[in-house]
Amino acid sequence: MGKYTGSSCRLCRTEGKKLFLKGKRCLSDKCAVEKKNYPPGMKGSRVNFRKSHYKNQLREKQKVKRFYGVGEKQFRNVFIASAQGKGITGENLLKTLELRLDNVVYRMNFAYSRNHARQMIRHGFFAVNGKKVSIPSYIVALNDEVSFREKKRAAENVKAMLEDVKGLVEVPGWVVMDSANFIGKINALPNRDDVSLKEIEERLIVELYSK
Ligand code: SF4
Repeated sequence: MGKYTGSSCRLCRTEGKKLFLKGKRCLSDKCAVEKKNYPPGMKGSRVNFRKSHYKNQLREKQKVKRFYGVGEKQFRNVFIASAQGKGITGENLLKTLELRLDNVVYRMNFAYSRNHARQMIRHGFFAVNGKKVSIPSYIVALNDEVSFREKKRAAENVKAMLEDVKGLVEVPGWVVMDSANFIGKINALPNRDDVSLKEIEERLIVELYSK
């Protein structure tokens, strides 16, 4: 699947859900979903059409993919690994996505959005257990320490960003922050209730891929 280059807000409106793709704007009254909560190109009165079960399955998958910013191939690979692991496939899928380095960096308040986190990770801003990691899809493990590299923190614009992004999102309970040193430790593995995308029916995604 090609990289989507259109408006992020359009994706949220298509899914009828806030996917938090634009940092601070998502928390303001400028959010497009707050203003027009109907799919792009449709008037409010036309959106109550009946959806097929297949469409529901597809939409649920797209929602999760877009929320975490994962392409089709990568998403399918995570699904396959989740199905092979112990436990419930759908839950494994969401928990694995939650442990992606780009998501973790965002939830540690080191970036405005998952997309912003991805850009910084690719430019070598972060380390895991002291070693630089530049792969946004890297899956962190229990007891890993994710740090904002000191060298990369020195620039004035980065310092200003870190100040501005402070407290943007709630740090999850499975992460313990050492804010003075810009380090977050994975203190526990997230459980189903910790998954940041709420009101998702992951069984629909499992059904879709099990056809
Ligand atoms: Fe989605 Fe954020 Fe745009 Fe709102 S502001 S529609 S949450 S990307």
